[in-house]
Amino acid sequence: MLIVPEKEIAALMTRAAAFDAVEGVFASMAAKTACNFPVIREAIGHADALYGFKSGFDKAALNLGLKSGGYWPGNAEKGITNHQSTIFLFDADTGKCRAIVGGNLLTALRTAAAAAVSVAHLARQDSKVLGIVGAGHQAAFQLRAVAEQRDFNRVVAWNRSPEKLNGLRAVAEELGLPFQAVSLDDLGAQSDVIVTITSSFDAIVQDGQIRAGTHLACMGTDTKGKREIAANLAGKARLFTDEIAQSISIGEFQHPVADGLIQQGDITELGAVINGTATGRSGDEEITIFDGTGVGLQDLAVASTVVDLAVAKGIALDVDF
Ligand code: NAD
Repeated sequence: MLIVPEKEIAALMTRAAAFDAVEGVFASMAAKTACNFPVIREAIGHADALYGFKSGFDKAALNLGLKSGGYWPGNAEKGITNHQSTIFLFDADTGKCRAIVGGNLLTALRTAAAAAVSVAHLARQDSKVLGIVGAGHQAAFQLRAVAEQRDFNRVVAWNRSPEKLNGLRAVAEELGLPFQAVSLDDLGAQSDVIVTITSSFDAIVQDGQIRAGTHLACMGTDTKGKREIAANLAGKARLFTDEIAQSISIGEFQHPVADGLIQQGDITELGAVINGTATGRSGDEEITIFDGTGVGLQDLAVASTVVDLAVAKGIALDVDF
């Protein structure tokens, strides 16, 4: 069995490899050659922790496994990150454990890659201004990944605590992109692409704030009750997601479906657009929304890529297990 420790991931994995892995698995999900299994997520009644796992099987790539982990709010005081995850890959022919891979950095990279894939396939080609809503741990990963997909010339951003935007400003400047902290009204009025990446339980982006032609990648909502955009925005846009079942239960589209504003049939899997079996954006005036809920198969795809890279570089630890 192979082990790829968390500390090795940064030097092994690239944004381009994460993009390819996520785009490929979204395509397999839409082609029904890959399937996510039901998600488990529980408050364990200890250390205020939320623990769970996401699992699935990609029959084409033979990626079988799970990501296990969750959220331990007291970790920061111990000097470790609050979100902890580990990915386990199993041999699809025998069930033997094939690899254990550190999942913390990979989670951020695969989440940012999902937004980037949505921008690659759905945003207007002439998109120039990138708007980011949120400035937590994931936000800088989102900025780096999405900025590569279009010829952006500016970044505007909003966060509930504006002082926390300095980290994003530094990343934008490193990328050579002018950065401005703005109000939500100004962010909506100026942006061609908007990424929302918060843990909000209230709609942040409102209907009247978005202009025609915008692409929104809503990446923060991954739990029942969370929400980042007003539900009625969905009624005015073309809707896309990674997985429909997850989108309407724990993703952003749980709300417009519950409010009767849209139906499940109004949502298209991004993988179908990648495969060419569904249309994406149909005009420059259309608003497109991608609800990135985060699926286990994304984790397996990037972990499998990392294992291959670690083996090729002689970094993977081989354990007789
Ligand atoms: P974080 O705790 O580091 O940052 C949270 C961000 O949300 C901050 O910018 C904070 O200001 C903002 N926020 C919280 N409550 C808010 C409110 N009521 N109104 C406005 N802003 C609010 O979290 P993170 O690690 O950056 O993750 C952000 C979100 O993304 C979380 O909800 C997390 O669960 C989710 N996530 C999704 C995926 C996926 O695949 N879709 C993957 C990883 C994380």
